[in-house]
Amino acid sequence: MSATSAFSCPESFARLFELLAEPNAVVLGGGTALVGQTRRRKRHLLSLKKLGLDFIKFEESTVEIGAMVTITSLINCDSKGHSGLELLQQAAKRLASTFIRNAATVGGSTVACFRWSDLPAALLASDAKMNLSLADGSEKEVSATEFFKKHPARLFRQGAILRSLSIPKREGIGSFFKMSPLTYGYAIWDVAAFKPKEGAGAKVAISAGVSLPRRLSLLEKGLDDGVSDRKEIEELACKDLAQLKIVGSRTVSKEYRTIVAPVILADTIERVLAEKGGINED
Ligand SMILES: Cc1cc2nc3c(=O)[nH]c(=O)nc-3n(C[C@H](O)[C@H](O)[C@H](O)COP(=O)(O)OP(=O)(O)OC[C@H]3O[C@@H](n4cnc5c(N)ncnc54)[C@H](O)[C@@H]3O)c2cc1C
Repeated sequence: MSATSAFSCPESFARLFELLAEPNAVVLGGGTALVGQTRRRKRHLLSLKKLGLDFIKFEESTVEIGAMVTITSLINCDSKGHSGLELLQQAAKRLASTFIRNAATVGGSTVACFRWSDLPAALLASDAKMNLSLADGSEKEVSATEFFKKHPARLFRQGAILRSLSIPKREGIGSFFKMSPLTYGYAIWDVAAFKPKEGAGAKVAISAGVSLPRRLSLLEKGLDDGVSDRKEIEELACKDLAQLKIVGSRTVSKEYRTIVAPVILADTIERVLAEKGGINED
């Protein structure tokens, strides 16, 4: 059982940051991770519900997604042909069950960044920016690449919150692949790839089998240079993967992950090259 001594729902950022300065204070998104955590120490849960962070705003060159948007709302929003948002929606569709998706938020799923979290690979491939609100009232924008370099929790120790994510508007094709033993199971691998319709700037990212989500630079360069041969794609994938520390778990071995990763990376990239995009339905 988790021990909660207090719950507050501040209506201003000033009040939130005042409360967040307390030693036991913790920000609450949808609560799907926090509620299950066993803690001896009592906590003061601070809900972000009344801070107006459940918006999806289309600007000329970006779409901004508030941290309190639920995974279900993200899936159901009209993408208006925004390719980066569509890639994020593909990942969101594969995230856990309807029950969890109705409660879990975009902010919580990004900050918690568990090994099985499905959004981070898609955030890297869609070139997202994270908008943070800091305790001193200032704001900070961090690229997804920078954000996931170390575990994001480090950015929030000093009393910051993730306010929103911004996805740049780029015409292109994105594809997401979640490899999981069960429909609602945790990922063995998550793979996301995005290729702009014109010019360079392809992004390929992987997560779940590594301790933090990572971009794969050789595959990205290969896509920019026009690679299309399956064997070459798998070779680039193997070279990229050799730079990473692939991990095993109680349910899936490191060896299995190592063998299947180049195959699912090549499958995902082939879908992008065939301009099919979309999500694996297995
Ligand atoms: C049975 C089960 C299966 C699941 N399967 C999957 C799965 O396959 N794939 C997947 O991606 N997810 C899965 N999830 C969801 C995932 O594990 C997390 O529970 C979820 O992503 C957390 O989102 P939340 O909004 O509920 O966050 P919360 O539980 O509210 O918070 C999580 C953490 O983020 C912090 N936080 C929340 N919002 C913010 C913010 N805006 N700024 C700063 N810090 C913040 C909190 O302080 C806390 O540390 C599963 C969950 C369950 C219970």
